[in-house]
Amino acid sequence: MLRPDRNFWLSWVFLASMALNVTALAANPEDQAKPDQVGKEERQKQSEPASKTESNTDSKTESKTYLSSLSGTVRIPAHRLPIKVYISPMPSGAGFKDSYQVMLKEAFSHFQDSLSGLSFVYTDKAQEAAITCRFTNNEKEMHFAQEGGVTEIVMDSDGIMQSKITILVPRRDCYIKKVALHEIGHALGIAGHSPDQNDVMYFSVSPDLDVDPKEVKLSARDIDTLKAIYSQSAKPSQIVKVEGMERSAAGRAMIISNEGSAAYKAGNFDLALKKYQEAYQADPTNAVIARNLGGLYVNLGSINLMARNAAMAETFFKNGIDVLSKHPENKPFCRQACAAYGSLLMMTGRAAEAKSYIEKGQGK
Ligand SMILES: [Zn+2]
Repeated sequence: MLRPDRNFWLSWVFLASMALNVTALAANPEDQAKPDQVGKEERQKQSEPASKTESNTDSKTESKTYLSSLSGTVRIPAHRLPIKVYISPMPSGAGFKDSYQVMLKEAFSHFQDSLSGLSFVYTDKAQEAAITCRFTNNEKEMHFAQEGGVTEIVMDSDGIMQSKITILVPRRDCYIKKVALHEIGHALGIAGHSPDQNDVMYFSVSPDLDVDPKEVKLSARDIDTLKAIYSQSAKPSQIVKVEGMERSAAGRAMIISNEGSAAYKAGNFDLALKKYQEAYQADPTNAVIARNLGGLYVNLGSINLMARNAAMAETFFKNGIDVLSKHPENKPFCRQACAAYGSLLMMTGRAAEAKSYIEKGQGK
């Protein structure tokens, strides 16, 4: 029915990541007696995999879903619900229409009505949104010339941290509605496509699609697949496939960050630092990369403090606070960094300066 050469592909990219936790090692004199041991224990704790690889295929629902066709599933974790959505203001210029935003909002409402337990709230702060959406009329922003939309998913150890949807215009409203539904499906954690063209999550959509936008709806299989992903018993699987990651600048930065995490895991902190710094320079907007770099700075600060190299420790702590303070979602880590720096200031006889950092560490 659909001629493949004229279809538009709908793509998704997973930006896998390995977020490190900031561990501000205690700066007590007692701990300084055995720095190596403490450091090793902390490192081991951090290098445990964030989640275990497990199949979430449920035999009861399998016939009604296309879980087995997917590369994997992830989800927005419970503590990030309701899902905050940010929609960029519609640019003025060729091809942009206000009705596209209406279609997009209708698509979100359709998901909310179809899936009990999942709800969306709109925010005007892109940084705090779990899903961000924007329209572009620049085909070059798609990873392939034939794409109608693209979703980039940034993960941390809890699951999806942020999904970024970009939709190419101009198209008919019904087409925009279908692309919106499809990309939201990816944004919610469907990693891959349905093999059935009756499902919204089929890999392509014809640019000739011409129906009432209200008729463009999720199929029962789309809905059941998402229900299975978000069901209490389902354990999101690890994304094994990161195909296409290298095609975007954000993806390339994440690849470098992941190389840094691998070096960190192997105990090569110098290489890890180099990689994280390179990744952060390439994409300072990615909170996971900032957390990785800031966390490593703080850990290196603690290690130097235990080795009684206070000057070096101070530089690392300051760098850590600087990087961690840039993203609101890294606030808890920034607090730990402030507490560690406050202890250092106290130990080096700067009580007045220490006070404000210790208070910041307590969230004041
Ligand atoms: Zn797709």
